[in-house]
Amino acid sequence: MAWECVIGLEVHVQLKTKSKIFSGASTTFGADANTQACGVDIGLPGVLPVMNREAVLMAARLGIAIGGTINELSVFARKNYFYPDLPKGYQISQFEIPVVEGGQLEIQTAKGPRTIRITRAHLEEDAGKSLHEDFHGLTGIDLNRAGTPLLEVVSEPDLRSPEEAVAYLKKLHTLVRTLKICDGNMQEGSFRCDANVSVRPKGEAQLGTRAELKNINSFRFVERAIYFEIDRQIAVIEDGGSVVQETRLYDPDKDLTRSMRGKEEAHDYRYFPDPDLPPLVITKKELDAIRSAMPELPDAKLTRLASSYELSDGDATLLAADSDLANFFEEAVRAANGESRLIANWILGDLSSALNRESLSISESPVSPEMLGQLINRIKDNTISGKIAKQVFGDLWQGKGQVDDIIQDQGLTQITDSDAISKAVDDVITAFPSQVNQVRAGEEKVIGFLVGQVMKATSGKANPQAVNNLIKSKLSS
Ligand code: ADP
Ligand code: MG
Repeated sequence: MAWECVIGLEVHVQLKTKSKIFSGASTTFGADANTQACGVDIGLPGVLPVMNREAVLMAARLGIAIGGTINELSVFARKNYFYPDLPKGYQISQFEIPVVEGGQLEIQTAKGPRTIRITRAHLEEDAGKSLHEDFHGLTGIDLNRAGTPLLEVVSEPDLRSPEEAVAYLKKLHTLVRTLKICDGNMQEGSFRCDANVSVRPKGEAQLGTRAELKNINSFRFVERAIYFEIDRQIAVIEDGGSVVQETRLYDPDKDLTRSMRGKEEAHDYRYFPDPDLPPLVITKKELDAIRSAMPELPDAKLTRLASSYELSDGDATLLAADSDLANFFEEAVRAANGESRLIANWILGDLSSALNRESLSISESPVSPEMLGQLINRIKDNTISGKIAKQVFGDLWQGKGQVDDIIQDQGLTQITDSDAISKAVDDVITAFPSQVNQVRAGEEKVIGFLVGQVMKATSGKANPQAVNNLIKSKLSS
């Protein structure tokens, strides 16, 4: 039988406010355990939560960007459950009236663009962390994360393959980073997702029973976990069994999902409006201010980059996916007065790998867009070859000065003196008679070898194209 899978994602977007959602404690990642949880975060008697306005405005930004409705009045609710990393015994979340309702994201699929509907996005506080390593049979509790603001973005069950789920996740990831509401760091858990997966016979209108795969924190694992889960469910049904609604955990080491617990229903949580918090009100004035300060959104950026610059589709997509990278690109193109393709190559090649190597973000790059633009200028005006440019780039990276100073100080200027090049070519022709004969016999490829020898003899400072032409003319006469 032909099967179809159905996927709905619940993504937890950690909002990058300085302080927690209902307290003044810091949200900085990586502090010593339990140094950043105050009385409010752990629910000591007598304390009261106070709404962090910044988190509300961030939620509204996302709502506007996805074309959703921002509720002028939404309500916080208590979601009650017991767990050691939730000392209050309840999580403050939103239930009946979330801050954002509706909206959509468009994704690209093998069959063309598809619109994925978003059900809602609600604000809530994160729980602490249970630490199972390092404690020899005991569990450590770190409450630093308790009270960190989350925006949970819930999609309709519109996704039809693991690839579509990843495309949707990447789209949302790009969007929250462009909106500057989340740092998107998946290793640190700032962007994580639960995947709801079911299967049904192709053509069937009714949804099958779903399993919820918890806490997946990389694009690759999302894809693999869903693949595994689809196969598992199909096998269960084809064996005459039926899928149980439950929560499952993905194990990346074994590449499988395993049952964690039966799925709770909403009524198990005894949701009720939190009496400590007034309804959340967002004014028209606030929404207008957010609308007028909206940055260029990823889709619009891609369209503009692709039409205003000469770029391959792949490069345009990569640049548009990261607004800081795109800004860097546009500044460098301005500094070089064009050369967009070459600049994109440098940014996505040498610069990105140097940044990755040192775990730096583009905003921390020691090579500025102006420097890169100037470097490109010096390739264009034949001051240096592309190969020497890589050496200059290395020096720029290490902070050894400006482009022209580095070229001057180290005598890297391309040899334009044709006598000097001619002499180097003659020397190589004398030194490699058998390769010369091969070229004369029509083996064009061997010219590359001779050019290489001349470049070596001139420490890379000859213009390779000029050398190539000269060798050809000398050997054809
Ligand atoms: P909860 O998981 O909190 O009970 P919902 O019932 O609203 O919340 O569903 C959460 C997610 O599960 C949504 O993304 C929704 O699209 C998805 N979903 C619901 N039913 C199915 C199904 N049968 N198959 C796949 N996904 C589903
Ligand atoms: Mg859920």
